[in-house]
Amino acid sequence: MAETFVVVGGDAAGMSAASKAKRENPDLDVVVFEKGEWVSYGACGLPYYVKGEIEELEEIVAVPKERFIEERGIDLRTNHEVTGIDTEAKSVTVETPDAVIEQSYDSLLIATGASAIVPPFDGIDLEEIYTIHDPPSGRALREALERPESERPQTVGIVGGGYIGIEMAEAFRGQGLDVHVFEMLDHVLDPFGEMVGEAVEEELRDNGVTPHLGTRVEGFDGEEQVEAVRTESDAVHVDMVVVGVGVNANATIADAAGIDIGDTGAIAVDEYGETSAQDVYAAGDCAEAEHVVTGEPDHVPLALTANRAGRAVGQTVTGDPTPTGPIAGTAVVKAFDLEAGRTGIIDEERARAAGFDPVSVSITSKSRAGYYPGGSAIEIELVADADSKRVLGAAMVGEEGVTKRVDTVTTAIYAEMDTRQVEYLDLSYAPPFGPTWDPVLTAAKVLNSKLDG
Ligand SMILES: Cc1cc2nc3c(=O)[nH]c(=O)nc-3n(C[C@H](O)[C@H](O)[C@H](O)COP(=O)(O)OP(=O)(O)OC[C@H]3O[C@@H](n4cnc5c(N)ncnc54)[C@H](O)[C@@H]3O)c2cc1C
Repeated sequence: MAETFVVVGGDAAGMSAASKAKRENPDLDVVVFEKGEWVSYGACGLPYYVKGEIEELEEIVAVPKERFIEERGIDLRTNHEVTGIDTEAKSVTVETPDAVIEQSYDSLLIATGASAIVPPFDGIDLEEIYTIHDPPSGRALREALERPESERPQTVGIVGGGYIGIEMAEAFRGQGLDVHVFEMLDHVLDPFGEMVGEAVEEELRDNGVTPHLGTRVEGFDGEEQVEAVRTESDAVHVDMVVVGVGVNANATIADAAGIDIGDTGAIAVDEYGETSAQDVYAAGDCAEAEHVVTGEPDHVPLALTANRAGRAVGQTVTGDPTPTGPIAGTAVVKAFDLEAGRTGIIDEERARAAGFDPVSVSITSKSRAGYYPGGSAIEIELVADADSKRVLGAAMVGEEGVTKRVDTVTTAIYAEMDTRQVEYLDLSYAPPFGPTWDPVLTAAKVLNSKLDG
């Protein structure tokens, strides 16, 4: 009898695993249970759908459900929620639209993703308070913006200045709304560091967004519908709120099954994505991954991590053990005309906790040769260990060319390069793309001199 690979969750990690496993072993029975209606969607596109740059919600679907079933031979069942895992009996309990069924497995992947955190703010149940996490939540926001002018929201409060909050600020400005961003820390984009945060805040203000920094939201006022965001010192009138204060790994069914949960709150896994239960794997936003710099488990819920880990698990379950690969927390975000990026460890305290002695420099360079028209400034903060000179991380911001440079530093981090090796990389050069000494080389040169004392 054919073996059965069961996947819980039909998005990035789950469908990558299912597709890879079926491709590697067409005889394998691959069953995917997805509790919602949508599969293989790119939540990353939702802010641009709300903005109106992406016309139809269906456009964010990478592979339609029918193709998985008809062309790839995957038994994909939507509106099927897995409510329990029995690791002894090797079976899962599934609530289908009309019954509760048991499905046995030889190997199982938990790819349940993460959920938007909704703090128990006073007034959280008022109407017109949203989160943005999946296609239905994106549709609800877009529908609100498509109401007749008299009922359409004019002012929106975004709670949380993380990357989703920043992307949503741009989306709502694009739709002509007054936008307020409430961030309890002193700067937006905390994982990107202060330099990037300050540049993005200026960009927000230049584009008519009001950031409320160091401002803790206490609740929402209104009769039936939200009318104001209440902070420690103020009440700011709004017609609509989006809460974007982060996500929690969906680890409840794993926890209930006795599977180990890591300190981050996500499911603990080994280098192959296997959990503490034999033949049970976890990948994507619900799972931890090893950080390439610290070697410690971490939880950075991003799309490539999910796709990559899912694909590796799909290969592993066909008998070819494949590590899911470490992460560097590499992230980029567009804030109006700015590009911001970060990779590795840039936080001093975190670097020290991992046993490093971090030293950093910040430089400002040009995105193109000085004489070539149209260039702009690019700021880079580069961090290395004082003793080994190993590059630990970087943050950067500018109007163009940030993503290429973030990826250069990411590659250096994976190769465990030191600042001198980075300084002498043969990076590409022509006037429209950068100065002769690429900004990354300049940052490494300056940091190397600082380390040499
Ligand atoms: C607005 C937004 C913008 C983003 N932008 C970026 C970006 O620019 N770059 C980036 O790298 N990442 C971005 N992300 C993050 C990225 O979308 C996620 O990292 C990625 O979707 C994770 O994939 P996943 O398969 O692990 O989880 P998910 O995409 O969350 O999928 C999990 C699936 O499991 C299903 N499920 C959960 N529990 C059960 C159950 N018990 N039974 C059955 N099914 C279940 C869910 O319905 C869901 O479909 C963004 C996310 C959002 C919300």
